Amino acid sequence: MSYQAIARKYRPETFADVVGQTHVTGTLRAALRKDRLSHAYLFAGPRGCGKTTVARLLAKALNCGENREGDPCGKCETCQAIARGSYLDVLEIDAASNTGVDNIRELRDMALYAPGEGSSRVFIIDEVHMLSKGAFNALLKILEEPPARVYFFFATTEPNKIPRTILSRCQRFDFRLLGRQELGERLDHVAQAEGVDLEPSARRLLVSLAEGSVRDGLSLLDQVIAGVVDAVDEQAVIAAFGLVRTEAYLELNEAMIAQDAGRALRLVDELAAAGQSLDEFARGVVTNFRNLLLLRLDARLAGMVDLAPEQVEQLSAQATRFGEQDLLALIDLAGRHFERIHRSTQPRIMLEASVVAYCRFESRVLLADLARRLEALTAGGAAGGGGSAAGGRVPTPPDMGRNPPPGIQAGAARLAAPPVSVTPVPVQPAPGPSTPDPVSTDEDWVRLIDHLMQTRPRVGACLMQGRPELAAGRLRVVFAVDKRFQVDSLCGESGAIEEAAHQTWGRTVKLELVLGDQGQNPDRQEEIRQEVAPTHREELDEACRGDDALGGLVDLMGGSPLPDSEREKWDGPGH
Ligand SMILES: [Zn+2]
Repeated sequence: MSYQAIARKYRPETFADVVGQTHVTGTLRAALRKDRLSHAYLFAGPRGCGKTTVARLLAKALNCGENREGDPCGKCETCQAIARGSYLDVLEIDAASNTGVDNIRELRDMALYAPGEGSSRVFIIDEVHMLSKGAFNALLKILEEPPARVYFFFATTEPNKIPRTILSRCQRFDFRLLGRQELGERLDHVAQAEGVDLEPSARRLLVSLAEGSVRDGLSLLDQVIAGVVDAVDEQAVIAAFGLVRTEAYLELNEAMIAQDAGRALRLVDELAAAGQSLDEFARGVVTNFRNLLLLRLDARLAGMVDLAPEQVEQLSAQATRFGEQDLLALIDLAGRHFERIHRSTQPRIMLEASVVAYCRFESRVLLADLARRLEALTAGGAAGGGGSAAGGRVPTPPDMGRNPPPGIQAGAARLAAPPVSVTPVPVQPAPGPSTPDPVSTDEDWVRLIDHLMQTRPRVGACLMQGRPELAAGRLRVVFAVDKRFQVDSLCGESGAIEEAAHQTWGRTVKLELVLGDQGQNPDRQEEIRQEVAPTHREELDEACRGDDALGGLVDLMGGSPLPDSEREKWDGPGH
């Protein structure tokens, strides 16, 4: 069965059959009933929404002898002839292929002859904006003094290209794209009439592909139906249109969260090996980031994400690992990458470069945020008197604490991958099976810090700002709420710290970094600082101080600071 066949088969025969355009059809039917139809109408709107369908219905209604309440009968000789395109008084012109003035002069001559007894002459001009200037002028002459019982129905996807002189002589109706619900119901209806079972997952995909156009939706359905026996499932749609499975995007997101470019490259390799269109995948990446942004912004926007509920659930969980700013920037980036991949003669290489860039992306944002927060920290320290940045007595800037910026939230969550867990908001220490002891002796703690100061001075400097508790092989280090920065930077170092503890204490511990109400007592911290060998104290001071600390932390994160131009871009106005 061809597309034409199914489209014709289910073409609306009454105004009530036209889906989703009741704001148009209601008004037109009322005008028909009162016999107050204008001589010229302009139907504007996206392709495949029913503009020419409504024009043909009007042509039938004007000429049908059995006209009932404004609807044509669809059965009489006249209706049938109009449907076949063989009714003399109804002329359909495609302006895209008849742009010239001669065509319109011909049309004008035709318009001047009176139509047959009891009938109306109707001109349907599709894509009317394509007419030449001369043709529009010729058309204007007719519209200025339209003969009795002559009607013009213009359809266009680009009303802005139509001269104002023409527009001012038309009644304009704007057709709209269909909502997912309406389109889904229409597809269900047609599939049912065709004796085919359309599974919800398949319908969702088709609706998504049709992008609100009934014609596209039916055309897509037709293509899928051609290849199946009695049921259309998701796999059939994916196979028919070479789509990329949603799982591929979920996998890309996981690779990004893990900042694992290798994993993303393996995904591209798998897609290429499976013969998937890399172009299609790159296009889908933009939608994927858009979906993540929606879910990140507001869970109630899930209805705008064209995915199965369980996939939306997975995506929602992933969305919490990204910042809004990241996603906005990623959408922009992926859009540009898609254009590049689409045009490229080497799409695979372009796509590979893109996914690597996505996997490296978040750390850039995170570092920009870290840099900003560090600046806030040092600015706070300078305001409160020189040197107080060290020792953890920095006043908390207003943008820190309970509601960290999204980028940091995402970064912390990402870094919080096992075995380290970070509690994102202040909590009471969890009541364990036994009350946690402070580390067996304070000496043990000092020895650990000392060891780290020799091997990883910056890690030691950060760690000593926390309050240690040791219980049942678990080293729990509690940081004050305003030490999120230190916790973030220590998250990637848990292995090194556990290793250092093993070497120092001769036993295995599992590290847990926690933000709590109370971190290390500043006096005790100062004592530890005194106890650490003097050579290290200088490094420690440096690690805790202003600009140098940024360099240290950037080293710690394995990244590089953004150039000023980039920083401005991320900071943007208003920061
Ligand atoms: Zn009829």
